[in-house]
Amino acid sequence: LVRNADTAMYHAKRGGRDDFRVYKHSMTSEAHEVMSKSSGLKRALINNELFVVYQPQYDTFSGRIFGAEALVRWNHPSKGILRPAEFLDVAEQTGIIVDLDDYVFNLIFEDLLEWIEQGAIDDDFKISVNFSGRKLFSEQLLQHLTERHEQAPTISQRITLELTERDMITNIEQCQQSIEQIKQLGFKIAIDDFGTGYSSLATLKHLPVDVLKLDRSFISGLGDDSVDYVIIESILSIAKGLNLQAIAEGVETDLQLQSLKDIGCDAAQGYYLSYPIDKEELLQLLAEQKAG
Ligand code: C2E
Ligand code: CA
Ligand code: CA
Ligand code: CA
Repeated sequence: LVRNADTAMYHAKRGGRDDFRVYKHSMTSEAHEVMSKSSGLKRALINNELFVVYQPQYDTFSGRIFGAEALVRWNHPSKGILRPAEFLDVAEQTGIIVDLDDYVFNLIFEDLLEWIEQGAIDDDFKISVNFSGRKLFSEQLLQHLTERHEQAPTISQRITLELTERDMITNIEQCQQSIEQIKQLGFKIAIDDFGTGYSSLATLKHLPVDVLKLDRSFISGLGDDSVDYVIIESILSIAKGLNLQAIAEGVETDLQLQSLKDIGCDAAQGYYLSYPIDKEELLQLLAEQKAG
């Protein structure tokens, strides 16, 4: 259903570009949309309209949930629940993303504090959170992470910051510095959508990351595309050699999961394993897991 909506949106835009008059019209309405969305987003941050859903991450061999990725959602007062594709671009364009990522980070930090206090999660349970690259170089981020670290030093190691290669590679030297400082505080760093950038190997060479997220585009071909099989095998062998965790994302079928296990990939997330769920559902799953 969600995919159909995305596809419809794509075709609408394409269609618009082929027709000059429609194109002109859509420009105006696009500009209007950016304005109304950015003021809407500012309001959303004040009125607590943003929340996160969690997608569980599984050990492919034991079936155990070892962590979850937080994904932001906007509970829009008139439009209902919006996914990031509908508002992240505007957030990036306007710089609101810095506050948005701060906000999301606070949400997962508070959740972690609460879950630890309740004894709801195992000692090694981790939360992954997405960060826009713009953020990586902001003093605000480092200050925020430092404050949070001082508030609860042991929680840092449970938090992985996910960044894309594109965001990392644009200024590798500055990025190196930021990442080292972030890691000193105990946080982990993951490269999101690994393999889709132009310089995946250069990123690995220069940046001390902890986790590789294997992009869904490679996983989707598993089972019928031998090229994807070889690519994933190679990435896994690099990950092993560099002592990094590799997590496959976007696992949608049993065939894909079995293929991953055949290649030796021990960590995965995707609709086949679990959709992103709200925190009550996540805690429920973890409780069931504990009960055995
Ligand atoms: P991502 O980090 O690559 O996250 C994975 C996206 O794929 C999520 O979409 C997730 O719901 C979806 N997904 C998970 N499993 C499957 C699967 O098996 N099949 C398919 N087709 N899709 C799957 P979502 O939640 O719409 O997020 C889209 C993107 O928005 C994320 O891509 C991430 O780049 C960004 N994002 C999400 N939350 C945040 C945030 O708090 N801050 C920032 N800066 N970016 C965020
Ligand atoms: Ca991600
Ligand atoms: Ca990803
Ligand atoms: Ca992505």
